[in-house]
Amino acid sequence: MTRLSLVAGCAALPLSLPLTALAQDDDPSGRRYLLSGAQVITMQGGWTPPAPLDILIEDGKIARIDADIEAADATEIDLSGHLLTPGLVDSHWHMWNTIARGYERSDQGGFAGTMKPLSGAWTPEASALSVELGMALAVNSGITYVNNWAHNVKAPEFADAEIAAMAASGVRGRFSYGYPQALGQGALMDLADLETTQSDWPEDSLIGLGVSLRGPDRSTPEIWTQEITKARDLGLPVTFHMGGAPEAAEKHNVAALAEQKMLGKDIHVVHMTSAPEEDLRKLAEGGSPLIISPWTELEVGYGVPDPGMMKDAGLEMAVSVDNTVLAGQINMFEVMRLTADLADGHAHKQQALPDADVFDWATRQGARSIMAPEGVGTLTEGGPADLIAISTEGLNTRPAASPDFLLTHAAEPEDVSFVMIAGEIHKENGKLIRVDLGDLTARADAMMGDLAAQAGVQ
Ligand SMILES: [Zn+2]
Repeated sequence: MTRLSLVAGCAALPLSLPLTALAQDDDPSGRRYLLSGAQVITMQGGWTPPAPLDILIEDGKIARIDADIEAADATEIDLSGHLLTPGLVDSHWHMWNTIARGYERSDQGGFAGTMKPLSGAWTPEASALSVELGMALAVNSGITYVNNWAHNVKAPEFADAEIAAMAASGVRGRFSYGYPQALGQGALMDLADLETTQSDWPEDSLIGLGVSLRGPDRSTPEIWTQEITKARDLGLPVTFHMGGAPEAAEKHNVAALAEQKMLGKDIHVVHMTSAPEEDLRKLAEGGSPLIISPWTELEVGYGVPDPGMMKDAGLEMAVSVDNTVLAGQINMFEVMRLTADLADGHAHKQQALPDADVFDWATRQGARSIMAPEGVGTLTEGGPADLIAISTEGLNTRPAASPDFLLTHAAEPEDVSFVMIAGEIHKENGKLIRVDLGDLTARADAMMGDLAAQAGVQ
């Protein structure tokens, strides 16, 4: 029994799984599906125009993509009237506080003033329930891969609870092990437990491990260099916030990272909303990708991001929802729409950032930027069967002049009819089929009410 399996006894977990549950609990091997009738956008190598193709699913993977596949023994699912695309990739989401939707302000002040007492009162059960609710929101809106950015790990139990809830959801993703919200800038996160967690990690899992750090903007040089060095020794991808607010951007910490040789494809930077173009270029030259969350960057007052300038600086890009506290919605369609339109507004011209590019950031390029497993963000033979079908016959989507516009400007989560992750169906005919929504939202309501009362937040 691994240490992670101990959290199986935690009553608040969404399902009473034996916590070898990190490995897939529901083995889809032997199950075959033939997805037919859809217009398929594979995103192999970038945007691909829709084509009438069938997809055969076997053992949780895409076995074949071709016109008119014959597979009499497979369960056929007719997706006529749909675009079939890779599932959306969310590159940065603090799932632990999903039940705190709207606590961006209270009698304790704004976002920081409110989250401080709440994060102090937080429990492992609240983190687990937040992940459970978050995963329902993810699937509903077509997200099939999540980088869960856990920045309130107050003790090992918090990490265990979130990992268990991720595993129980059946959604693919990464747990980016973080630190307690209240940790001082000169204090190290729990690197020993990070290492233990990695050593206990099962091989056959939909969930990978990474690290979320405070980085140079939010910890001292002794701390961030030590933490990055340790993460690299363990071979784990690293992510931290940087250059969001103007006062953070004024630190120009890209230069400090470059000097320490601590940029690269394994170092994923979030925000850079207020950073000058020169710093964006330095980040790109260092080989680090950039993750943006345009809605929350606006909502928290970081400024008005310019995704076109970020692209032109040579950066690999990924997009994200960040959290429900500020954003309210988990809606990658709205994230894509805002991303494209911010670029056009800054450039004073239409299509300064093509819609097809933004869809790439939310699928193939987004996955590659954050080092998601091979094949995530594309539909590829031999790759994971993580895909979504979007109705082209709904009120939002019919008529629509072009598929890239439909996907980034017209469609909404309600148009996602079908979601499959690792060959398992999660949403069918527009309904979540693995979640009791009434029960889940009632539990979230009750727990958040208790936490707010305990934290003295109104
Ligand atoms: Zn964040």
